[in-house]
Amino acid sequence: MRMDVFTLLPEVMETYLHTSILGRAQTAGLLDVKLHNIRDYTTDRHRTTDDEPFGGGGGMVMKPEPIFAAVETILGSGLGEVPVILLTPQGRLFSQKVAMELSQLPRLALICGRYEGVDERIRQYLATDELSIGDYVLTGGEIPALTVIDAVARLIPGVLGDSEAMNKDSHTKGLLEHPHYTRPSNFRGWEVPEVLLSGDHGRIDAWRHQQSLKRTIIRRPDLLREAHLSEHDQAIIAKMIEDKEVRLEDEEKKKEKVKSKKWKMENGK
Ligand code: SAM
Repeated sequence: MRMDVFTLLPEVMETYLHTSILGRAQTAGLLDVKLHNIRDYTTDRHRTTDDEPFGGGGGMVMKPEPIFAAVETILGSGLGEVPVILLTPQGRLFSQKVAMELSQLPRLALICGRYEGVDERIRQYLATDELSIGDYVLTGGEIPALTVIDAVARLIPGVLGDSEAMNKDSHTKGLLEHPHYTRPSNFRGWEVPEVLLSGDHGRIDAWRHQQSLKRTIIRRPDLLREAHLSEHDQAIIAKMIEDKEVRLEDEEKKKEKVKSKKWKMENGK
C-alpha cells in the first residue's frame, strides 16, 4: 500500500515511520510511505506556505497554491482516483472501522495542516475526505497522520506476525480485548488466573471471551450496541449481571489498589 503525506514537518514523522513494525513493513515492501515537504512546492523567494486570514483575526492560514501544487504533482494521473484525506478536527471521527475501510485501498494521500489550518478551498476542491482523530485540537496534522498510517498499516496482510491476535484486538469485533499476563506467574504475591496456566485451550478461550465481554460491559457498554452478540454471548452477559459479577468489578479494583499500597508500605517503596 502506498501513502503520500503532505506536511511542513516531514522530519518529525521520519523516525516513527522507520522504526519497529512500520519500518519492517516498508523494508518488506508491504507499505510505502512517502513524505513530501509542502515548502518544496512554493515558488516565491521566501518559500512562503502561510499568510494572514482574510477578514482579520489571529493566527496564520496555510496557503492553497503550494498544497495544490504538491498534491497534483505527486498524484499526477492518480488525481481523482486516489483518496486525498485532509486531517482536521472537523472531519469524520477516525475509528478501527475507518482504518479497516482504508486498509483495503492500494493508495491514499494525507494532508497535514498547521497554524489555524488550511485555506478552505483545499477542503472544498482538493480533499476527498476529512478525518479527525478525536475531539481535541493538536498543533498540527502530523500526529493525526501517523495515527492513521499506523492503524491502517497494521491491518495490511503480512504486516503483523500474528494475524489471529489482530482479530482479537479491541474494537475489531466490537468488543474490548481480554486481559493479558506474562511471566512471572506470581508477582509480589499477585497470581495469574489459574485457568491461563492450565494448558486447557478450550477453557482458556472461553475465559478470555468471557473477560472480553465483561470488560466491554463495564468500560464501554456503548460498544455492545454495535457488536454482533451471539445468543450464547447474551446468555453469558445475562448471567454475569444476575451473579452481580459486573458490579463487583469496581469493588475488586478498589481491593487491588489497597493491596498494592500495602505491598509498597511493607517493602518501603
Ligand atoms: N483552527 C482549526 C479548527 O478549529 O478547526 C484547528 C487547527 S489545528 C491548530 C492545526 C492542524 O492540526 C489542523 O489543520 C489539522 O491538520 C491538525 N489537527 C489538529 N487537531 C486535529 C484532530 N483532532 N484531528 C485531525 N487533525 C487535527
